Amino acid sequence: MKKVDTIEALRMARATLAGPVGFVPTMGFLHAGHLSLVERAKAECASVVVSIFVNPTQFGPNEDLEAYPRDLPKDLAMLEAAGVDLVWLPTPEVIYPPGFQTWVEVEDVTQPLEGAKRPGHFRGVTTVVAKLFNAVEPDRAYFGQKDAQQVAVIRQMARDLNVPVEIVVGETVREPDGLAMSSRNNYLNGEEREAATLLIRALRAAKELYAQGERNADAIRERMRAVIAAEPLARLDYVSSAHPETLVELETIDAGALLSMAVFVGKTRLIDNLVIGTK
Ligand code: AMP
Repeated sequence: MKKVDTIEALRMARATLAGPVGFVPTMGFLHAGHLSLVERAKAECASVVVSIFVNPTQFGPNEDLEAYPRDLPKDLAMLEAAGVDLVWLPTPEVIYPPGFQTWVEVEDVTQPLEGAKRPGHFRGVTTVVAKLFNAVEPDRAYFGQKDAQQVAVIRQMARDLNVPVEIVVGETVREPDGLAMSSRNNYLNGEEREAATLLIRALRAAKELYAQGERNADAIRERMRAVIAAEPLARLDYVSSAHPETLVELETIDAGALLSMAVFVGKTRLIDNLVIGTK
């Protein structure tokens, strides 16, 4: 497994890889969710590139950039064991050199949900992912359904900017009790970790209501709110029942919906989602 940091070294190493090349961008502190994307890339591509970069521009001023968990030796051991060919570890100066002044902004699909609650977040995401794509030039790039809006935003960006990459989406990997794996789960204390199952409990309760025939999106959202309200350690940020691609809130669910939410458990902000009614 080759490790590089500069763009020049990355490009030289990339040029030696057999295609198709699969790419998994990450912020490190890897878990089984990341590894499922790496394994899928391994299965579908001749070579696999992983980047680890905690992108400062996608964090808001009051978010957890400084506290974001890091464990590079463990990450590298996991990637080596997974058979990754090339790991790119850029520093912030490599991605944002002095004088940097070009940003990538996707419009409508970044406005609701995470975009509304985290101003500037997706501008940071699309700018860094565009830069990563330009440097790595992957044939396929792998993203997790866990970050459903991110998938929609990156698909839109790739389409609008004619980036010749296929976007592949991997299912959300969960702990045995249903909590979606996330590097941020590391912030939870024991009590909060137990309470954190409320996201998947709320999503499954809403899915069950839908299965019983409920099609009113407000009723579905209300079901999720009720589960969250019952947990004293939790504070709702948003719940949504939206069109799976445009992410516009629905009135009636007649052709599938993305159920999603953000909830603070203690000080930790967790997100999760389920798609209903499309199969
Ligand atoms: P991050 O390191 O949090 O930026 O995540 C890197 C990639 O892994 C993103 O495409 C995430 O959507 C994906 N990912 C994170 N958690 C999970 C999970 N539990 N299951 C599947 N993919 C995930």
